[in-house]
Parts: sequence; structure tokens; C-alpha cells
Amino acid sequence: MKTLLVLSTLTVWLMASAPIASAADPKPYPLKTCAVSDDELGTMGKPYEFTHDGQQIKLCCKSCLKKFKADPAKFLSKLKSN
Ligand SMILES: [Zn+2]
Repeated sequence: MKTLLVLSTLTVWLMASAPIASAADPKPYPLKTCAVSDDELGTMGKPYEFTHDGQQIKLCCKSCLKKFKADPAKFLSKLKSN
């Protein structure tokens, strides 16, 4: 139960010290292409957008999501090199 108390105290402290929760805002996706297939976004319809570990990700289609989930680190490294 002590852990719970510490957690709730920490939560209150965090909320008090940071009224605007900037941690909740994902980093914007830096590319104009699908993170998985490198196809230009929008050419296959509306891009599929989601947030992964605070990083916004855009994919050209939802079928790329399976590939992304299979190896997220591989595709996330693409974002950093650009
Ligand atoms: Zn794609």
C-alpha cells in the first residue's frame, strides 16, 4: 500500500508543478512518407496516424501497422536519421 501512496503523492506533485501536461503531446512526425513503406503519405488515401511512445507516427495505410508493430525500433530509427 505504501507504493500506492507514493504514486498518488507523485501524481499530485506532478500535476501541481506542471499544469500544462507537455508530456502528453506527442512529438510531431518528421517525414512526408510512410514510416514502413516509404510511400508518399496521402497517395493511398488518408494516412493512418497513431502515437507510439510519445512519438506521432503516420503510415500510408493501416496494413503497414502490422509491419510497424512487428519491429517498431527499426522504423523509429528512420525518424531519427532524418
Ligand atoms: Zn504504408
